[in-house]
Amino acid sequence: MYHKLREGELKHAYITDEEIWRIFSRVMSTKSTKSSTYKFVLFKSLIENLYNVNDRLEVNYDQLAYSFAKMFWNMVVGNGITQHNTGANAKAATIILDYQAAHATPPGWKFDKVPDANQVEIVHKVKQAMKTNVFGALFGDTEETFYEFSHQQEKLRFHPNVYTFLLKYQLLLVQLTNFHLARMIEKLNGTASGLLLKVEDLSKRENLKPFEKILLHYMDASCFYCGKDVSTGKRSTHVDHFIPWSFVQSDQVWNLVLSCQTCNSSKSDKLAKPFYLDKLLDRNEALQEQAEIADFDVYAPAKLRQMYQYSIKNGYNDIWVPPAT
Ligand SMILES: [Zn+2]
Repeated sequence: MYHKLREGELKHAYITDEEIWRIFSRVMSTKSTKSSTYKFVLFKSLIENLYNVNDRLEVNYDQLAYSFAKMFWNMVVGNGITQHNTGANAKAATIILDYQAAHATPPGWKFDKVPDANQVEIVHKVKQAMKTNVFGALFGDTEETFYEFSHQQEKLRFHPNVYTFLLKYQLLLVQLTNFHLARMIEKLNGTASGLLLKVEDLSKRENLKPFEKILLHYMDASCFYCGKDVSTGKRSTHVDHFIPWSFVQSDQVWNLVLSCQTCNSSKSDKLAKPFYLDKLLDRNEALQEQAEIADFDVYAPAKLRQMYQYSIKNGYNDIWVPPAT
């Protein structure tokens, strides 16, 4: 359990930008475990303190906790965004809500309006919460590669390559983090418009029925992954994007397979193991021989292989295998 760690050490002496991008994309996506706003706010706090490091690239917990508490305060009190976790609320939000109730702070107040002595008190409490729930969790999510930390020394130290990366791409990283934070806020708190979730789905189809028809016409009515018969029973057939839709954002028959309900929902937006890539390449060859389908006009096996590799580099590195039946 990473979030319980009291200290963590960097795993590698050297890490490439490509590797950092993969890990960053994964952390931002829903693939890393927790449905809370913590990781985004800590990430923003790290960026806010890039120029507060000493020559060992260390930043102390008080500085990070100040950024973190300020942002949480401004969400919770400043903007009335109170829910920060699925289930029980995030500790940092609870600390702030308790303070607001005890001091009858009017909604809309920004953190800098809070008297200094009280700011110090809030930052201190939030720092304790970060020690239990935050530093270790992001350390785990970033695969022990972005920073190391020690609760005893109350210091976090950036990996030198990651530090340079953050400086190089700072603006873009902040914008991406803001988007994902806003999206998470929308998910947890609901908004009338649900704008960000809508924007994400702009190119999504209503359904994949036309593809299902094509596949059922030319292929066996069995699950591509587990082989189970999908021809019987109501609504038993699902069309699965082999390379996840969230990555490719398009529907091409050469990337679509029939699957059973169990495999489809368990796979979700993960990548299946390479065995299935080979199986799909064979499937596509067979499909191309049997039918003239426009989607295949610019298809090439090498493209599909490349897409598979690129999705891994973009953080789709949790390789899925069908659940045992
Ligand atoms: Zn299946």
